[in-house]
Amino acid sequence: MFRTLQQAFSSLLATNGWLQKEDKSATAEKVDAMTVEIGYPEWIKHNTNLDAEYANLTAEEDEYFKNSLRYREWTSRRELALLRKNVENSLWSFAGPADVNAYYSYTRNGVLLPAGILQPPLYHKDLPWYSNYGGIGVVLGHEIMHGFNNIGRRYDKDGNYRTWWTQRSSDSFKEESQCIIDQYSDFVMPENNRSLNGQKTQSENIADNGGLRVSYEAYTDKMPEGPRLPGIDFTQEQMFFLSFSQIYCTVFTPKGADVYIDTNVHSPGRYRAIGSLQNNEAFNAAFSCPAGSYMNPDVKCRVW
Ligand SMILES: [Zn+2]
Repeated sequence: MFRTLQQAFSSLLATNGWLQKEDKSATAEKVDAMTVEIGYPEWIKHNTNLDAEYANLTAEEDEYFKNSLRYREWTSRRELALLRKNVENSLWSFAGPADVNAYYSYTRNGVLLPAGILQPPLYHKDLPWYSNYGGIGVVLGHEIMHGFNNIGRRYDKDGNYRTWWTQRSSDSFKEESQCIIDQYSDFVMPENNRSLNGQKTQSENIADNGGLRVSYEAYTDKMPEGPRLPGIDFTQEQMFFLSFSQIYCTVFTPKGADVYIDTNVHSPGRYRAIGSLQNNEAFNAAFSCPAGSYMNPDVKCRVW
């Protein structure tokens, strides 16, 4: 799936209208050079290494809070111990196999997909492809897109922080991004009646929009027709978008919504779904959304 998404990114690149021609090949090279690690690090299967890793961490069955503090202390010590050591070239230094999350490292140009996220509703080997591409496919697409959002575009294919696009491409990128910044700033959370911060969440919103697009492209380009679900009258295309939206089902208290807006670089789940879908022509076609309606606005934002 990861390879099909890399290819889908490259084919979207070919139709991109704002990136300068001379920057397209370097951008294609960066997506090709991207690495992925899935599941768990190899060393974890060796008991001696595993025991050594957790030697200084203790946990008691009936001390949830203390366990949490001990874990934080252990993590801090482990991180501080890396100071002035040679850089360890493994993505697993900042995540564990049980995480229900995925990561992109700017400095390593690599994606990390822990075992914990490889379960329904995101992924299962027996789920239809539209469900897997609408789930983990979009997540993988999101991580790939991190390499090309407002932060990732400043790192080259080897993870070095340097300018590798022409000034014209950088200027166009900012213009295209402004549309997404404005779109998300207009969303108001009904829970606390507050607007989202489109500026602060732009890196994640760009990754969300591109990730959805790239996964749909990979799915429709590569996958054969799958079976429809019995008793559910949705097309495969509709099922892809439903699987995607389902990931972001979220409930907030008003205070929880305050904290989320103030501290999180992601948009709240509801708008991670709505924002990306409003900009997506394939979604509008799949559900025949009337032109100019809420889910099919006339102004569409597209960076990637
Ligand atoms: Zn992200």
